Formats: sequence, structure tokens, C-alpha cells
Amino acid sequence: MLAYVRGPPVAVFAGSWLCSKSPVDGTPIALGEPFGDCEVGVARLMSIATSVRIAKQLGVRVFVSEELGEDAVDAAFAGGANGVLEELKYSEGDYKEGAASVLLRPRDLAELVNTVRVIAETHRKPFDVLIAASLDRVHEFAPYVDGVVIVDGWVPVSVGEAGEIPEIRRCVHCGVDYLIYSNPVRRCIYCGRRLSGVIASTRPPRSRAVFRSVFKRYAGVTRLRVKIV
Ligand SMILES: [Zn+2]
Repeated sequence: MLAYVRGPPVAVFAGSWLCSKSPVDGTPIALGEPFGDCEVGVARLMSIATSVRIAKQLGVRVFVSEELGEDAVDAAFAGGANGVLEELKYSEGDYKEGAASVLLRPRDLAELVNTVRVIAETHRKPFDVLIAASLDRVHEFAPYVDGVVIVDGWVPVSVGEAGEIPEIRRCVHCGVDYLIYSNPVRRCIYCGRRLSGVIASTRPPRSRAVFRSVFKRYAGVTRLRVKIV
């Protein structure tokens, strides 16, 4: 049984297929929170999902490469990824006939915007600008591009042993997870809203549509704290 022990204040759970008990993929998890009975491999998938979510919060479309492997790509979708690079019509470094996007690997902002202008002057065709970058550089480029492909620099997420997985009920409005060790609660003690379960009793299919809908459901959750009851 695992808890989320080190990483950003909110991580995204991914990898339910490696668990006998877990949240639904795409569910945010608070730092310090126990979350499921899983293989430790979920940490890498949570790292990818969390990284995508962090990039999405910069207001940019986020893509990953299928080179990451099927599990990691699904984790990226759980984090809100818009798509897979290889499924786009794109060309790398310069515009090519039929491409909808041009993928660049700029060293800095000046190189990016000047390269884009030169491509425009040469080809006189519309195109979207994508950049391939490490997560820690996405914020530099995000305001100036149509999309980013995260290639590395995934945010570290560590998991550790938990003694038990209590029932966990969440108020999405207040960003509070009630860890029920003694007193069952049905409504949020701060706002009175009905709480929803964090650990899934039934597992939805492993599909991009499901990942997207779970991501959207929790998109507004930017902070999350644990309350023991
Ligand atoms: Zn509440």
C-alpha cells in the first residue's frame, strides 16, 4: 500500500492498471496522502501525468511522444495531454508541404520567434508552432507557441509504504480530502457540499475519452489538503 511522499503539493494519479485498489486515473492526490495498493511503477506514471498537468496550467496545449511507451502515453492523457506528437501532421525544423505544425527545438525565445518569421517568409503558408522542451523550460516558451512537446525534465514524484488506505472522501470545491480513520463524514464540514469518494469502487475503461473527462472534472483543483476525521 502506497502513499504519495515527495513531489509537488498536488500530483496526478495514473497507473490504475498496476493496482488492485486505487483512484481513477487523472485524480489529483495531495502530498502525503495514501492512495492505493499499487506496484511502485506508478511513481513514474504519476510523474508524467503531473508534469503534463503543470504544463497545462501555463495555458498551452501539451503533447508527448509515443516513444515514451503506451503506459506513459496513457499517463500523459490522465494528466490532460492534448495528443501524441506522432499523430499530428508536423515537420521538424522547417515547414514542409502538407504540415499543419512545425516542431522547433529553440535555445531561447529570440531564436524561436526569429526562426518562425524566417519560415513564414520562405514558405508563405500558415502553420502552428510546436516546441520540444524539458518541463522546466516550458514556462519560457508557453506564451509564444501553440503547443509544447515535453521531452524530459519530468517532475519527481516519489511513493512510499503506507500502513493502510482509509476511506477518502473529497470536497472538490474546498480542495479538502477527508481521511476517514474514525468518523464517517458525508458532507464537507466547511461548505456543506456532498463529498465524493477518491478510491474507485469500479474501474472505468482505459480510454483517452475517460482520461479527458476525469482531467476536466478536477481541472479546477489547484490545491488539496488532507483532513483527518
Ligand atoms: Zn467544501
